[in-house]
Amino acid sequence: SARILDGRDIARDIRAETSLRVADLAASAGVVPHLVVILVGENPASRVYVENKARACAQVGIKSTLVRLDVGISAQELICEIERLNRSPDVHGILVQLPLPPHHDIQAVLRTISIHKDVDGFHLYNVGGLVVGKTIFSPCTPYGVMRMLDHAAIPVEGRNVTIVGASNIVGKPMALMMMAREATVSVCHAKTRDLAQYTILADILIVAAGVPKLIGAQMVRTGAAVIDVGINRDPQGKLQGDVDFDAVRTKASCITPVPGGVGPMTVTMLLVNTVSAAERIAANATMHSLRRSDLKADLS
Ligand code: NAD
Repeated sequence: SARILDGRDIARDIRAETSLRVADLAASAGVVPHLVVILVGENPASRVYVENKARACAQVGIKSTLVRLDVGISAQELICEIERLNRSPDVHGILVQLPLPPHHDIQAVLRTISIHKDVDGFHLYNVGGLVVGKTIFSPCTPYGVMRMLDHAAIPVEGRNVTIVGASNIVGKPMALMMMAREATVSVCHAKTRDLAQYTILADILIVAAGVPKLIGAQMVRTGAAVIDVGINRDPQGKLQGDVDFDAVRTKASCITPVPGGVGPMTVTMLLVNTVSAAERIAANATMHSLRRSDLKADLS
């Protein structure tokens, strides 16, 4: 039976490292990483996500601020608010909780966020950067999957990786990150004919479709690593993934549970990105002040 990849355990290790980085930054630069989350309107699911993010930040010593905006806020007002946060030297990460009310152009909003503060990695620059290996921040869910595989010492290079789901936030960036690591990648989606033909090839199978029990044991190669990104609620309100866990675990070499797999990793990567943002901004500020003092010395 498969080894269970416990996302909570791995996340705990990474959060401990992240706390140390927060302490170092306070000691070396007097900076406390600060994440601002913008929530527009009253979507109850979004409220829960935002609260989880705030709680996770507090655990590692990241300051977080929730900016709640009225559901009727105009596109222009929202953009002005983001521009204000871009300019604020005390803000290191900016996250706009999606979805937004329909009168907003989500891509335009995401493109307003400074690429240096784009801790969700959804700005066009960071999305495009995945293609050429120049991204500043990687999107949290695929980044979390990558860190999980690395933590479990599962090699990627030269492996067959099949990704089920091709969304902008999970499947597509996951494929690019896997290509950057020289995996052989197949990407499947709702229009794929004969899904099993691709999944059976996978040394690493990553499933992010949002369809409960989409992946049965007969679709999985013996010894595969199976990463279940899916989060579905059954009629009783219980969470389940996209993989038939009990069946597949008899065939896989390792598998992530739902809940307690990829979910905790996603939030953790947001913390990692926020601390990285603060470190980069602090290093940049130091460099500028050194340049300024050089200049003063030259002039005197
Ligand atoms: P999405 O709806 O934007 O995209 C789903 C993708 O799966 C699409 O490409 C679609 O074509 C494909 N798909 C749908 N049905 C399919 C089928 N029968 N066969 C093959 N492909 C199919 O969803 P998303 O935002 O990428 O999220 C996917 C799932 O992952 C959801 O359950 C979501 O809740 C979950 N999720 C979890 C985390 C986490 O932190 N664990 C983060 C993001 C999303």
